[in-house]
Amino acid sequence: MQGVGFRPFVCRLATGLGLGGFVANTPFGALIEAEGEPELLDSFERRLWAELPPPGWIASAERWDLSPRGDGGFEILPSDARGETSALALPDLKVCMECLREVYDPADRRHRYPFANCTRCGPRFSILVRLPYDRANTTMARFAMCPDCRREYEDPADRRFHAQPIACPACGPRLRLLAPEGRLLAEADEALRMAEDALRKGRIVALKGIGGFQLLVDASNEGAVRRLRERKAREHKPFAVLAQDLATAREWGFVGEEEASVLESSAGPIVLVERRPEAPLAPSVAPENPLLGVMLPTTPLHALLASDLGLPLVATSGNLSDEPICIGEEEALRRLGGVADLFLSHDRPIHRHVDDSVVRVVRGRPMVLRRARGYAPAPVPVASADRPLLAYGAHLKSAVCLLVGDWAFVSQHVGDLETPEAVHALERVSGELPGLYGAEPAEVASDLHPDYASTRLAEARPVACHRVQHHLAHVLAVLAESSVDEPVLGVAWDGTGLGPDGAVWGGEFLVVDGRVARRVACLRPFRLLGGDQAARDARRTLASLWWTAHGPDEPLPEPLASVVSPLEAQAWRSAWLGAVNAAVCTSAGRLFDAAAALCGLGWSNRYEGDLPMRLEQLAGGSAEAGPRLPLADGPPMFVDWEPLLALWMDERISVRERSARFHGSLAHGVADVAGAIGLRTVALSGGCFQNGVLLERTAELLEARGFRPVWSQRVPPNDGGIALGQAVAAARRVRLEV
Ligand SMILES: [Zn+2]
Ligand SMILES: [Zn+2]
Repeated sequence: MQGVGFRPFVCRLATGLGLGGFVANTPFGALIEAEGEPELLDSFERRLWAELPPPGWIASAERWDLSPRGDGGFEILPSDARGETSALALPDLKVCMECLREVYDPADRRHRYPFANCTRCGPRFSILVRLPYDRANTTMARFAMCPDCRREYEDPADRRFHAQPIACPACGPRLRLLAPEGRLLAEADEALRMAEDALRKGRIVALKGIGGFQLLVDASNEGAVRRLRERKAREHKPFAVLAQDLATAREWGFVGEEEASVLESSAGPIVLVERRPEAPLAPSVAPENPLLGVMLPTTPLHALLASDLGLPLVATSGNLSDEPICIGEEEALRRLGGVADLFLSHDRPIHRHVDDSVVRVVRGRPMVLRRARGYAPAPVPVASADRPLLAYGAHLKSAVCLLVGDWAFVSQHVGDLETPEAVHALERVSGELPGLYGAEPAEVASDLHPDYASTRLAEARPVACHRVQHHLAHVLAVLAESSVDEPVLGVAWDGTGLGPDGAVWGGEFLVVDGRVARRVACLRPFRLLGGDQAARDARRTLASLWWTAHGPDEPLPEPLASVVSPLEAQAWRSAWLGAVNAAVCTSAGRLFDAAAALCGLGWSNRYEGDLPMRLEQLAGGSAEAGPRLPLADGPPMFVDWEPLLALWMDERISVRERSARFHGSLAHGVADVAGAIGLRTVALSGGCFQNGVLLERTAELLEARGFRPVWSQRVPPNDGGIALGQAVAAARRVRLEV
């Protein structure tokens, strides 16, 4: 990867080993020719991966053997005109330790300068207008370098050699503090100090971050956090908090070694950790949620705010409810004028919105749940497209994926397509990403669902559109990311996705063998009472499961009966009998809702994934042996959930125990199907596998029986990964046979 000191690093390493050859930039990455004894070459290759200094990373590498040329020394070849370009757009990088040290050093010329950066840190993707990645092609083009910055920029020995966004107080961007009506209140450090004062007093500050505006408020002030919830129209969904350093994050949550390394990584995402009961955070930060999303400062600006204040700060996306985040100042003033009391802004434009990413650690490995700042648009190598192809994703957590040559570029997270703003953002991203790489899509891919806004956008393009079944896309996304080629059993469990038979799928087992996929098993079908309403109202799912198991004449059991009015019960029963707005479904997600409801966690989802997430936490990190779920002969085989009903209502055991056994039953169900199918590799995908307890137990059981489980890590297992799977399905012409 260019632009992060890669070539000098290669040169030092090769010279140290006494190898001959060269390193050069090409439009598609770095080319290294190294000559020497085989064991030295092996050691060189090993150390290339192991010792590459952060934030550099190698997306993929290929190796060929050449005849020796007798080269003596090792050199850095001058790049040709095209090679000078940075071929790939790099993700935005969290502020590095050296830059922070300067910012805190009163003697340094960048003391308290919020926009300090170097080749190892700073904005990239969010300020990139077009490739190649040169200053003139970023939103830094409007700032002329001062002589001091110019000197650093041109000195190969300097940490800021060719740091495109290089800046200092003399020549770079400047802070400004605005009132909600746009009046300028203060500039530079005074703006920062005034904003800090306001935060101390419980005010809400909109802060222009790397990839968009964030809303900040004192996270220890319950009244202030509540006010933010009311104004933002976000009642329950947890807020992330900003900690000034790792030690502080550890005071608030249980931060393990892997979580710490993700927090400190150059991506700097929000990391989900278990909250400490004594954490000094207002209850409204994450109501009834034992998990806490925590992040470290991503820019010097965030670092200064956090350390000056010494307070925990809520740092949440600058949007209303689920709209995309604001990036422009005018837009922010217009849309967030009723939310924020002050706007801490600056004059470096953000070219594209890039939200904060979200990661959790499962089974000792990071799993990206929302892929944006710090990760997008780093490519996944896929080696399959002969023509550029663009996939449009699903409806929730949407993102697009561009396939060019051997690369799959998954865009930054766009969000749920519930608002015109979100649809517009998806449309913009679907134009912008191919534009960056000069690739005009020759084909597009979308979900099977005809009513998704993403499907309609895909179909509006004047090229062939491949409609890819939702769960097939889930499975292929995992396979692409894990570079798996052999026949596999794919397990795709989530809320809903349209099946080719018109039913609502969501608990699927697909065998993928080359270009053919077959549905070999699914959860036992039941009716989705009230369609989308069932996604919120767990009572409907429970009633439907009950009638499916025991027949419609059986009265609803307690405690369900006491929360369903006779009128509702009657209406639901006739809908169930007449199949009115009650499609057949195999949704695994709904089973989690039902289980959570009978474990006393509430009868409805306050936001997507609310009940399942709390059900996982209730299990206390462990899955225990629960009732075995019978397999009924297929194809497709049915995994029967019926024994779960009795488990959920078993008053003799604690709700914690019920949750633990529920997870255990499902994990066994997956392992039993894997046993019946007999393919060695099992791909686990879909939103349900964001659940750490389910994923860990399933992977454990599979490994114990000799299977090889794989799951998503770099691309979200939820619908945020759908576009990647669609792209691969379309490029490889994978056909789903039912
Ligand atoms: Zn730096
Ligand atoms: Zn300067």
